[in-house]
Amino acid sequence: MGGTPRFIARGQGACVWGVDGNRYIDYVLSWGPLTLGHAHPTVVAALQEAVTRGTSYGAPTALESELAQVVVDLVPSVEMVRFVNSGTEATMSALRLARAATGRTKIVKFSGCYHGHADMLLVQAGSGVATLGLPDSPGVPAATAADTLIAPFNDLAAVERLFEAHPGQIAGVIVEPIAANIGFVLPAEGFLLGLQALCRAHGALFILDEVMTGFRTSLGGAQARWGLDPDLTCLGKVIGGGLPVGAYAGKRAIMEQVAPAGPMYQAGTLSGNPLAMTAGLVTLRELTRPGVFDNIAATTAKLVGSIKQLAAEADIALQAGNTGSMFGFYFLKSPDGVITDYASAKEHADTARYGRFFHAMLEQGVYFAPSQFEAGFVSSAHGEEEVGETLRAVGKVIKRLGD
Ligand SMILES: *Cc1c(COP(=O)(O)O)cnc(C)c1O
Repeated sequence: MGGTPRFIARGQGACVWGVDGNRYIDYVLSWGPLTLGHAHPTVVAALQEAVTRGTSYGAPTALESELAQVVVDLVPSVEMVRFVNSGTEATMSALRLARAATGRTKIVKFSGCYHGHADMLLVQAGSGVATLGLPDSPGVPAATAADTLIAPFNDLAAVERLFEAHPGQIAGVIVEPIAANIGFVLPAEGFLLGLQALCRAHGALFILDEVMTGFRTSLGGAQARWGLDPDLTCLGKVIGGGLPVGAYAGKRAIMEQVAPAGPMYQAGTLSGNPLAMTAGLVTLRELTRPGVFDNIAATTAKLVGSIKQLAAEADIALQAGNTGSMFGFYFLKSPDGVITDYASAKEHADTARYGRFFHAMLEQGVYFAPSQFEAGFVSSAHGEEEVGETLRAVGKVIKRLGD
C-alpha cells in the first residue's frame, strides 16, 4: 500500500486509536480474531481474573476440555480437538496427521490459498505473499515443496487430474472454504462437496482450513453452512478471542492417532494455557448468545450491500461478497471481469484503485485491510453508528476514485 503504517496505541469496541491520537473504525480486527471487537469487557474481566491463577501449567485444565466441548457442539464434523498456538501450527499438524493416517506423502493445495507459513504450505500462497507479489518463499527446500501439488481454486477437474497422475500418493487435500487470503472468493456451487467426494473416492483426507471461516461463515463454520463433512478441520483466529490459539480437530478415529493416544507426535509448551483458553471460551460463549451472531451477519450484509450500491452510483466496477461476519470487495479493471480464483484475481483486480481507496478511507478514519487481497471483518461492536460513518466516508471517497 505504501505510506506509513499506523502504529496502534489502543483498541476499544469497533475502533483503534493510533499513537498520533487518530481514531479509526477497524475492519481488520487483528486479521479476524476479534469477533466481539477490541477489549470486550467480559473478555477483559475474565482474563484479569484468570491471570491471577497463573498463566500456564503444562498440565491439563478443565478450561481446555470446556473449550473443546464448545467446538465439538458447534462444528458438525468435529469429535476430538487438539489445541495449539496458531493457525500455522494447526494446518502443519493436520497435514502431518493426514500423512500419518494414510501413509502417503503428497498433499494438494490451491493457488492463492493461505494456510500459515509452514514450509510445505508456503507454495503459491495467498495473504502477504499475494499482496507483496512474492514468488514461492526463499528458504523453502525444493524437496519439501515437491510434495505439494497445486490446483486452481474452484477447479475440480484439475484436482481429478492430480489424483490420476499420482495414484495412491495423495494424503490429503487442504482448502480454505472461501478463498479469503486473496480477497474474497466464494466456492462455486458443488466445488467443496465435489472435493470431499474426490477425497473419499481416492482414500485421501479432506482437510478444511477454517482458521478464518470458523465461527464467522456461520457459528459452525463453512461446514455447517454448506453441509460439508471434512475428516480434519483447522481452526484459529476467533477460537482464541484475540489470544494465540489454534486447533486441529476431526473424526475420533483419526484424532486418536495423535500422541499420547497414538503414534503421531505433536506437542507445545504453552498449548492450551489457561489465558488463551479463557479468552476463547468467553468469546465463543458471548458469540453464541441468542441473536449475537445474526446481528453481526446482518451488519456485514448491510455494509457490503451499501458499498455495492455506492459503487454502482459512482459507476465504479466492484465485485463484492459477504458471508456471516466476513466480507471482501475488489475494484475491477473492467466491468465484465469476474474473479473466481487467484489467476483471475491478479488479472482483474485494480490494485492501484484499491490503494487510493485505502488511503483516502484512512484519512476519513476508517481502516480497511491494507491490501486488495485480504478479507474484511465485522464485530458485534460495529453498530449502526460505525457503519453509518463508514458509509458516509465511502460515499465521499468513491466518487473521486474514477479520476
Ligand atoms: C490466518 C490463517 C492461517 C494462519 O494462522 P496464524 O495464526 O496466522 O498462523 C491459516 N489458514 C488460514 C485460512 C488463515 O486465514
